[in-house]
Amino acid sequence: MGVALDVPLGDGVFDYKSSDPVELGVRVIVTFGRRKMIGVVVSRQDKPRIDPEQVREIEEVLSDIAPLPADWLRMAQFAAGYYQRPLGEVMLPSLPAPLRKVSAYQGKASRGGPVARMRKQRSPAPLPDLTPDQIPTLNTEQSGAVDQIVACNSHQTFLLHGVTGSGKTEVYLHSALHYLAGGKQVLFMVPEINLTPQFEQVLRARLVHQGGEDVLAVLHSGLSDGQRLREWLRVSTGQARVLLGTRLSIFTPMPHLGLIIVDEEHDASYKQQDGLRYSARDLAVWRGHDRNIPVVLGSATPSLESWHHAQKQRYTCLSLRQRARDVTLPHIRLVDTRRLELQQGFSPQLLEAMGKRLDAKEQVLVFLNRRGYAPVLSCTSCGWVSQCPRCTAYTILHRSGSAARHHHLQCHHCGYHARVPEKCPDCGDADLRPMGRGTQRLEEYLGECFPAARIARIDADSTRLKGSAQKLFAKVHAGEIDILVGTQMVAKGHDFARLGLVGVLNADAMLFAQDFRAPERLFAQLMQVAGRAGRHVAGGEVIVQTDYPEQPVYQALLHHDYTGFARHSLQERESVGLPPFAFQALLTAEAKTIAKALSFLEEAKSVAQNQFSAYMDMAVTFYDPVPLRVVRVAHVERAQLLVESTSRPVLQAFLSAWNPQLGPLANQLRVRCTLEVDPLEI
Ligand code: ADP
Ligand code: ZN
Ligand code: ZN
Repeated sequence: MGVALDVPLGDGVFDYKSSDPVELGVRVIVTFGRRKMIGVVVSRQDKPRIDPEQVREIEEVLSDIAPLPADWLRMAQFAAGYYQRPLGEVMLPSLPAPLRKVSAYQGKASRGGPVARMRKQRSPAPLPDLTPDQIPTLNTEQSGAVDQIVACNSHQTFLLHGVTGSGKTEVYLHSALHYLAGGKQVLFMVPEINLTPQFEQVLRARLVHQGGEDVLAVLHSGLSDGQRLREWLRVSTGQARVLLGTRLSIFTPMPHLGLIIVDEEHDASYKQQDGLRYSARDLAVWRGHDRNIPVVLGSATPSLESWHHAQKQRYTCLSLRQRARDVTLPHIRLVDTRRLELQQGFSPQLLEAMGKRLDAKEQVLVFLNRRGYAPVLSCTSCGWVSQCPRCTAYTILHRSGSAARHHHLQCHHCGYHARVPEKCPDCGDADLRPMGRGTQRLEEYLGECFPAARIARIDADSTRLKGSAQKLFAKVHAGEIDILVGTQMVAKGHDFARLGLVGVLNADAMLFAQDFRAPERLFAQLMQVAGRAGRHVAGGEVIVQTDYPEQPVYQALLHHDYTGFARHSLQERESVGLPPFAFQALLTAEAKTIAKALSFLEEAKSVAQNQFSAYMDMAVTFYDPVPLRVVRVAHVERAQLLVESTSRPVLQAFLSAWNPQLGPLANQLRVRCTLEVDPLEI
């Protein structure tokens, strides 16, 4: 029979035999080479693909959990085919670690295996039963949306397009309650681990009275192996009815799954960036189709892919045009910074507006998508700049606190750390200055401007410790913070009650990025962060500082005009044949030298053109291999080759033919390569 193993060879399925019949989806222990491994039985063909003499016996059949269900196997199979990865590399990593580790089952410490050990442990004390603050009555738009979602008893993908603060959560909740009442399970995905506590509270408060104490399970990468196993078991046995989780939760078996919700569906975090590079949003739609159940994708700024589907009536669009609480959308102001003297990046207009809001006891959010103190340290006399010795990138100056021992230079690409030099390594001058600014520097400057204000910074640096993000967000929610400085971590989904003003610094940095999705991402990010303002009280305001106020992105933002922006962008994409009007795959090569990486890609391209010319006639086109923008990271040089087609099936067929050639070619040329389907960043 065929057993899927986490081995990067062929299709990831290997032949084994067993004297007793073993069901599909059962985990087994086998010997592969000299190693023992856990695999999943995925086929029962009698004829092995290798010499029957060589087929080894399955060593142990694991029966501590039910066989992985057929629909789970189908989804894994689909993902492996679609994303061009061996099946075992899709299946095994998606299981909680203890279920795929031989050491958890064999040897002294195993004590009956991880599932048995878990059942012996006392379950954690039940969480307090939260009472809902007040359940709002749905407005007409909301109930219209819910009606359509609950009336659907087959597959349909809904695109819930609701402006920020329009109450999408209530629509999710009411729809979920309906399916729960019908005995179904609901999968509720959020893009960011930091958003789970907020939703967990809401879900718990609203669902426990209907579903009981055990109703909710939560899955994200911040859990320990044991916690993850516990939650996974509760969901896959059907005990927990609602699964709240980040992208990895899409791979959880759910026997009674009846509804899938994907909040902030446009968010790039749904795309896994290593290993199996899947889109959890796209897999959600596939899974919904496969199980014949509805899928709800929600966003204030849907991805252009989803919007395009809705325009073509492949998805059903549900619109929430008004904010749910009796407040209007925040007023947006563009401050033209071209002729202004800025103080540490702040315009006088923004500083004045901040002062007023603070006087009125409102919160202010300052958004800058760049962490650290300054993006580079530079010598005033010779022009030396701090550079990473391992990458083609600057090192970023980090300071926390004023003491010099807390200062260092850090590379954001490879993690390289260095002390801050006392004098210029090139000319010896002692006048080294930070250039530009990041969130740490803003925090410092705001402390000088507004000494009475309580300031918090939320970015990847301030939240490195486990639980610290949650603590900081809790402080903001509790009103213990007056000014919040943050990166995109603060932009998403949070419902801050007292936030009156949002200031956006240096948004222009994203305006001229090479990636064709840069304007789309910038617009979504600005709409999101702007949407944090004035959610509970009227008079919210957003100030965006820019050198290019006439750019379409800013003009659309000014009018909260997602539809106009989407129309304009889709026209542009269509005229040049970019996604969603074309489908892409990206081959990336990593080598000692850029020359090697490029020549591998040239070679891969000519293999395609010589051996698979039929596909070239069917509209598969190649770009030229190019170096990545940051060519070298940790001494490895990188280049990429973009492949495109107007037909998804043709591209898929071509990739399936081409992909098996790439591994051997890469080995031969001593290059590492990865193939990514539907890349988000190019
Ligand atoms: P979104 O996710 O669309 O940005 P939320 O779901 O966070 O918006 O809702 C914004 C605010 O409006 C929340 O504080 C929520 O409690 C409130 N709200 C939602 N629906 C209603 C309603 N029908 N009536 C009054 N308030 C509502
Ligand atoms: Zn110098
Ligand atoms: Zn580096």
